[in-house]
Amino acid sequence: MSEALGPVRLRVAPSPTGDPHVGTAYMSLFNLAFVRQQGGQFVLRVEDTDRARYRDDSEQQLYDTLSWLGLHWDEGPDKGGPFAPYRQSERLETYRPYVEQLLEAGHAYRCWCSTERLQEMRERQQALKQPTGYDRRCLGLTRDERAELPGFTETPVVRMLIPEDPPLTFTDVIRGEVNAPRPDDQVILKADGFPTYHLAVVVDDHLMGITHVVRGEEWISSTPKHVLLYTWLGLPMPQFAHMPLLRNANKSKISKRKNPAARLTWFQEQGYLPEALRNFLALLGYSMPEGQEVFSFDEMVEHFDWQRVNTVGPVFDLDKLDWLNGHYIRSIDEGDLAGRLVQRLQLDGALGDEPTQQQRDVVLAATPLVQTRMVKLDETTGMLGFLLVGDDGLVVEDDAIGSLRDDAGTVLDAATAALQQLPEWTTSAIEAALRAALVEGLGVKPKLAFGPLRVAVTGRRVSPPLFESMEILGRESSLRRLQALRQRVIA
Ligand code: GLU
Repeated sequence: MSEALGPVRLRVAPSPTGDPHVGTAYMSLFNLAFVRQQGGQFVLRVEDTDRARYRDDSEQQLYDTLSWLGLHWDEGPDKGGPFAPYRQSERLETYRPYVEQLLEAGHAYRCWCSTERLQEMRERQQALKQPTGYDRRCLGLTRDERAELPGFTETPVVRMLIPEDPPLTFTDVIRGEVNAPRPDDQVILKADGFPTYHLAVVVDDHLMGITHVVRGEEWISSTPKHVLLYTWLGLPMPQFAHMPLLRNANKSKISKRKNPAARLTWFQEQGYLPEALRNFLALLGYSMPEGQEVFSFDEMVEHFDWQRVNTVGPVFDLDKLDWLNGHYIRSIDEGDLAGRLVQRLQLDGALGDEPTQQQRDVVLAATPLVQTRMVKLDETTGMLGFLLVGDDGLVVEDDAIGSLRDDAGTVLDAATAALQQLPEWTTSAIEAALRAALVEGLGVKPKLAFGPLRVAVTGRRVSPPLFESMEILGRESSLRRLQALRQRVIA
């Protein structure tokens, strides 16, 4: 493995422990903005050394969600690259010589303490209100010497020997001088032969030529351990930048257990557009010059500057995201939106895997009717489903039936008569005929006159504009639906 030099190389290093976390997208976005500005490389490294929390479907989900968001990496387990493999579980042999080097130099030592002993030790420290941390029971002992003592286990771990006076200050690209607490004698090699995050991250960032380590604020307290490892191993130090954590409105950290919006797949389910989510995530950590709120990734790249990253935990305000999403839905072109509506209808089962051209044409024709009304794509099937079901399959919702007044039958009959004779089936002709027949003819107020027609045609009280919908649906279907409701009203 050769060492990279030259242009910037950044990485995102998620652990595949379930649905990808929104923080991974957030980190990727900021890494990538800098990389694209500088013309460097962006690496996706899978940190799967925690076997207990590993989930094998999450790697694919990670690729899918990041790709959906348009956050593309240049090197990674799926793409390969000059520093492959990019999955830590496939690099176990790589870490071993570094552990040996640290052991030989006396910067690390083996520890045979059993889990039970460590547990007791922690409880004792807590009971005595002492700082918790490893008490160095094994330091300076050989295996045989240690085996004589209680709380021994055959397979050792390897720990860092934190010196008396470790460097606790480091320079952060975003925060300037940062002070971190004194670390414990951190385990770097586990009993199962896997390195812990701390060793693997240092070795891999070095071997993969990472120039800037950009990660969440929760890693600040680990950085002194990494600084020690770089120093002991004689490796050049990358630059560090710690992004602020995303927070709930009550300032707590966003966790997948407590907040569905911590999962990236949630945003897909809800029907947020990737460009809106990208803009939202950017806005959470970044202020554009002149406080611009709506901006593209390319604009972010153009203006990117670490000094403009906010260090105060940004609050996840989903109302803002809704607002942005509505904005993007209104700004993309009709054909593009129609394609996304088709996908959503497929996801919801309202369209099959291979929609016919006629079905696609219906969605395209209806797109302008919903484009200004929609906040999220999860409204698609509710708004457009009536155009894609057969007349017999139309479900008329209970509250829509409940909204009908006694004169619904009369209104439906008069509408049917007017529409049957209509020479041309266009929105304006439909509207003119219905106004003449119902508002002028029957003397019913427009809102009350068109309500039953909406219920008949769409099955709902609220729908896209009625006359346009009827034009798209066609004369035959529209009349059949008026008749069907008429029958129901009599019954
Ligand atoms: N595997 C770590 C995580 O999932 C990576 C932290 C880092 O970027 O150094 O957060």
